[in-house]
Amino acid sequence: MNLELPIYLDNNATTPMDPRVLEAMLPYFVEKFGNAASRNHSFGWVAEEAVDYAREQVAKLINADPKEIILTSGATEADNLAIKGVFEMYATKGDHVITCTTEHKAVLDTCKHIEKLGGHVTYLDVKEDGLIDLEELKNAITDKTILISIMYGNNETGVIQPVREISAIARKHGILFFTDATQAVGKIPVDVNADGIDLMAFSAHKMYGPKGVGALYVRRKNPRVKVTAQMDGGGHERGMRSGTLNVPAIVGFGKACELCMNEMESEAKRLSVMRDRLETSLMELEETYVNGTREHRLPHTANISFKYVEGEGLMMGFNKNIALSSGSACTSASLEPSYVLKALGLGDDLAHSSLRFGLGRFTTDEQIDFTITAIKDTVIKLREMSPLWEMFKEGVDINAIEWAHH
Ligand SMILES: *Cc1c(COP(=O)(O)O)cnc(C)c1O
Repeated sequence: MNLELPIYLDNNATTPMDPRVLEAMLPYFVEKFGNAASRNHSFGWVAEEAVDYAREQVAKLINADPKEIILTSGATEADNLAIKGVFEMYATKGDHVITCTTEHKAVLDTCKHIEKLGGHVTYLDVKEDGLIDLEELKNAITDKTILISIMYGNNETGVIQPVREISAIARKHGILFFTDATQAVGKIPVDVNADGIDLMAFSAHKMYGPKGVGALYVRRKNPRVKVTAQMDGGGHERGMRSGTLNVPAIVGFGKACELCMNEMESEAKRLSVMRDRLETSLMELEETYVNGTREHRLPHTANISFKYVEGEGLMMGFNKNIALSSGSACTSASLEPSYVLKALGLGDDLAHSSLRFGLGRFTTDEQIDFTITAIKDTVIKLREMSPLWEMFKEGVDINAIEWAHH
């Protein structure tokens, strides 16, 4: 068997583009190059028609109206537009936003920004299983609360928040509900009406489309939601997001949505079976823990800690033959382990020893077989060299040891 290395298991960071998406995009670079806002000639009409069609494909996947889709450069921009846009638009109503500690940085840093502008933000903790506590959510609501921003599925753990319960609480209090659904859309059924979502961010490159394009869903009725534009200019996207549309990328986004819509059901099954097999095999190792609830979870994600082994060391151990992320991967220049895992109550040791497996459309059973063997071998080998592991095996209570501080 000829297995091509390295194996890509970092689909939560980005997915490879589906060749069928590329094919749909190609005519729109050179041949059909028009500006979708050019109203006076056929070059513009052809581009506009392509964008309209893509917008329908995008809307259909989430059961929205095409008019409710604001095309952006991706989920980061959509997160910014949703939170800052609501904060500005509804300033006379209130200045309080509720979010949670395991959100993506695009949400957390945007919330920090509105705090600097004088707004107030409540960051809800999550329980050990990664889920927010709905009672805490209810208790956090004040008469100044204008927005609840809770993500759909977590990018590190795959934990799916109780979106319908959250939206029901928001509705009851007349508060808007925004969700960053970047990891969920295209992977599991997301229905903005059944789920009671008012605003929702998602991105093409997490669902086999191109990078640099995404959308903000903005509800148009019951209630009619508006956001203040964060990008001023020609008044594109119903005035909420100016800038000439990236037609080839948008066409690709539409195609990616259509493919996900058609293939989601069988693909979610295939991925969860593969993910469970990976997890069950790796759990045969001692002192191995799955992070986050295994019950409410995206089908393509597993986050596992291998105690007494460093995530980065593990990756070196299998010679970078498997491309994935570890909880000790340093965002920014810090050595801080994943804030998401720490929010679940993991200590530094367990957070540092975690790996995130992000499976995808092009992941095969052979790749999973290779991964299971490589990781098991490496964990066993590294533990054999670890004095901590030796102490653990001798029955020393490692948590009781006083470490020298420096
Ligand atoms: C990837 C990701 C983002 C950022 O999306 P971009 O399109 O790359 O800006 C935001 N939120 C979540 C949950 C993500 O996984």
